[in-house]
Amino acid sequence: MALLKISEPGGKATQPAHHLAVGIDLGTTNSLVAASCGGGVKPLPDAEGRYLLPSVVQYRENQPPLVGAQAKFNTATDPANTIVSVKRLLGKSLSELTALGHFLPYQFDANRDDSSPAIVTVAGIKDPVRVSADILAELARRAEHCLKGKLEGAVITVPAYFDDAQRQQTKDAAALAGLNVLRLLNEPTAAAVAYGLDSQDQGNIIVFDLGGGTFDVSLLSLQKGVFEVLATGGDTNLGGDDFDRLLADWIRSQANSGNELDAAATIRLLHLANDAKHRLSDAATIDLTYQQWSGEINNEQFAELCDDLIKKTINTCRRVLRDAAMTVADIDNIILVGGATRMPVIREAVTRFFEKQPLTELDPDKIVAIGAGIQADVLIGNKSAENFLLLDVNPLSLGIETMGELVEKIIPRNTTIPVAKAQEFTTFKDGQTIMSLHVVQGERELVKDCRSLARFELRGIPPMVAGAAKIRVRFQVDADGLLGVSAEELSTGKMAEIQVKPSYGLNADAIEQMLQSSQDHAHADMEARALKEAQLEATQLIDAMNSARKIDGELLTEAESERIMDAVSQLQNEIASGNSNQIHALTERLNRVSGDFAARRMDLHIGKALRGESIEAVEKSAD
Ligand code: ADP
Ligand code: MG
Repeated sequence: MALLKISEPGGKATQPAHHLAVGIDLGTTNSLVAASCGGGVKPLPDAEGRYLLPSVVQYRENQPPLVGAQAKFNTATDPANTIVSVKRLLGKSLSELTALGHFLPYQFDANRDDSSPAIVTVAGIKDPVRVSADILAELARRAEHCLKGKLEGAVITVPAYFDDAQRQQTKDAAALAGLNVLRLLNEPTAAAVAYGLDSQDQGNIIVFDLGGGTFDVSLLSLQKGVFEVLATGGDTNLGGDDFDRLLADWIRSQANSGNELDAAATIRLLHLANDAKHRLSDAATIDLTYQQWSGEINNEQFAELCDDLIKKTINTCRRVLRDAAMTVADIDNIILVGGATRMPVIREAVTRFFEKQPLTELDPDKIVAIGAGIQADVLIGNKSAENFLLLDVNPLSLGIETMGELVEKIIPRNTTIPVAKAQEFTTFKDGQTIMSLHVVQGERELVKDCRSLARFELRGIPPMVAGAAKIRVRFQVDADGLLGVSAEELSTGKMAEIQVKPSYGLNADAIEQMLQSSQDHAHADMEARALKEAQLEATQLIDAMNSARKIDGELLTEAESERIMDAVSQLQNEIASGNSNQIHALTERLNRVSGDFAARRMDLHIGKALRGESIEAVEKSAD
């Protein structure tokens, strides 16, 4: 699901009071909060001056949970109550989590149903929303302390690939933490905003995000202030921590330390490797000491050691370009995001592949929070120069009821908004002057299985034969997700319109359910649609045949007339049967037996038309 951003230059300038709003990067490994303070949006530090809050929560008996560095430190001694990487659990069922194959040292509550896993801790049962809320609450406390006031709103970032359930749970967590969510913002979009790329007219941007345990590449296209995610790729099991593990193995092999390590020793070694990795970002060669061994390692050796991991990230970039049918030459900017992109080995590989220097002026692990902070500032009304709107995509298809209670989808699900689409329809009956329009939402083929949004009528259609009128139905979803539907009869310009809020009363669960049911019923729906279409075609043919006989009956012999009547009545009887093949066969038969009659009519009317009479005039005069 893509989030995009629209800038409307020339918005009215107002001078509102300063409101407190923050941007929050709720990361798998680390989280941050940023806000506008003293000129520009900056990340906010904790009392010890640290910006990154490790996304780790330790639950304790009769005490509030411990969030951040101290909790991370306690992971080794209290793994069952110390929740790390909770972002991986958001919006997932227990069976999905098990299938992902992550090592989860927690005891999941057996009394919950599969769709809402929760962890048993010494402080009670905690679901992923609760754990995320505890991280968010910690950041909110920090922000209120720094900004000396009550927060009025927050923009929270999510990966571009997050689905509805993951987004909804992120929102739920924020609500539980007492935050007013102004918007969820895609992480890559936030990165582009932090670099001010949104003020450019157009461009293609690669956001290369290598965090602690996840890797995401997004290709954003910017057109007149609107960001669109064109392609995403990545690996949810690849991050800076994998580089730590390789380095740790290397150190152990250098030190010839053969014996098995216990959990605490493993964590100590990983810390050593992590520290070494960080030092390699600032120096070409570093010294290392482990047990009795001392030695050194340089970035070239490190690059060789991690060659497979580096290649994996570059192959993902290649794939993302291919998915968007682009080449490196099409890319205008590359943004490095995530602490692990500080590694020179990564920077070099990215520069080599894209044949261009990536943007690196901003701290890669703070960019996302800064971009979110900038948006929060705008959305809360502090920034008045431009009027920004952040947009979602349309989560469910929007369409219109057509004959036979079928749904014609006009705006398919996942279309980025704002969007406008039009389609032409026609009348079903001769002389029809009113058309009633029924606007529906959902993925199913039949109206009864979709959600009814609104009904309205277009009146004053000039009487014409069925199929001659041209009615243009236009669907427009605006920046706030508001749907406007208009119907216009093209010859007279007669118009009717209506406005609806498609998301009204719909929550993520309901959306999920609607999508699920469309998958469950895909086959049955197709059959139902085929039947309705066959019935419709048959009814139309019978109507056309009856009116043709009324007008040009004298062109038929007695025998022909009987054959046609017989075919009509057989078809008429079959329509209600529910057997679409049979209806098709009898429709064909009626077409066949009336073929000569149709040809004779055609000759006659072409003759008349050549003499200056239109077919419509002829048909009208017969009524
Ligand atoms: P996430 O987005 O997953 O929450 P971050 O963006 O905070 O994670 O990235 C964390 C990763 O960045 C860790 O693996 C950490 O070791 C790595 N990292 C942080 N600083 C540096 C550095 N100076 N050099 C190399 N790696 C770093
Ligand atoms: Mg991140």
